[in-house]
Amino acid sequence: MSLVSQEPTHTSFPKRRTTAGIVIIGAGMAGSRFAIELARTQSNDDTARLPITLISKEPQVGYNRIMLSPVLSGESVFEETYLYELAEYEQLGITVLAGTSVDAIDTKQQCIELSDGQVLDYTELVLATGSQARVIPFANHDAKGVHVFRDIADVQVLTEYARQAKKRSRHWWRGARSRGRLRFGISRGRYDSGSCR
Ligand SMILES: Cc1cc2nc3c(=O)[nH]c(=O)nc-3n(C[C@H](O)[C@H](O)[C@H](O)COP(=O)(O)OP(=O)(O)OC[C@H]3O[C@@H](n4cnc5c(N)ncnc54)[C@H](O)[C@@H]3O)c2cc1C
Repeated sequence: MSLVSQEPTHTSFPKRRTTAGIVIIGAGMAGSRFAIELARTQSNDDTARLPITLISKEPQVGYNRIMLSPVLSGESVFEETYLYELAEYEQLGITVLAGTSVDAIDTKQQCIELSDGQVLDYTELVLATGSQARVIPFANHDAKGVHVFRDIADVQVLTEYARQAKKRSRHWWRGARSRGRLRFGISRGRYDSGSCR
């Protein structure tokens, strides 16, 4: 995400613009809770109703990241980690843009540009972009099987990796068993043929 020059510029975002009211970038636990609470507060106050737009780079909106550990271990399912139903955002009038990231912010013109090319004007901007997993560049940090664990996409990759590894180890065991049987068969053959003294 880049911050466009603070100098007055009327050409930085020339595309068609939409007014999005209060824009919240990031629909993690902070962003999604903020959107819901703000919408609930506004619904009780007729004097201060601004549109609310929640933007999520991840296709999945407002899940509890902390619960990814039990999802990865198989103790829980991902659907249980959502903080709110999608219907709740809808009912409260929150516009949710999922699977798109904010690529640039122009604070002078009060607008943002999304990865899909949309340009949105904002009245207020909330940055709830959280953090990213940082990989320490130690030797072999990019070796096969070394992975970060931050979002549901990581869980899916890790789960698939574990499934493949399990499959490989089952093959290895089958191979080891037949290798064992073969050896056992060879010695029995020797025994049967009287070669074993
Ligand atoms: C496996 C795991 C276990 C954890 N366990 C604990 C725990 O036990 N206790 C604890 O206190 N904390 C724990 N944490 C940390 C906790 O999950 C985070 O502190 C918390 O998720 C922060 O919430 P957030 O909404 O601020 O940010 P995030 O959850 O990081 O959400 C930010 C969102 O913004 C999106 N985003 C970023 N940039 C853009 C952009 N340019 N445009 C659009 N969207 C964008 C991101 O994709 C993300 O979806 C854990 C984290 C993980 C990964």
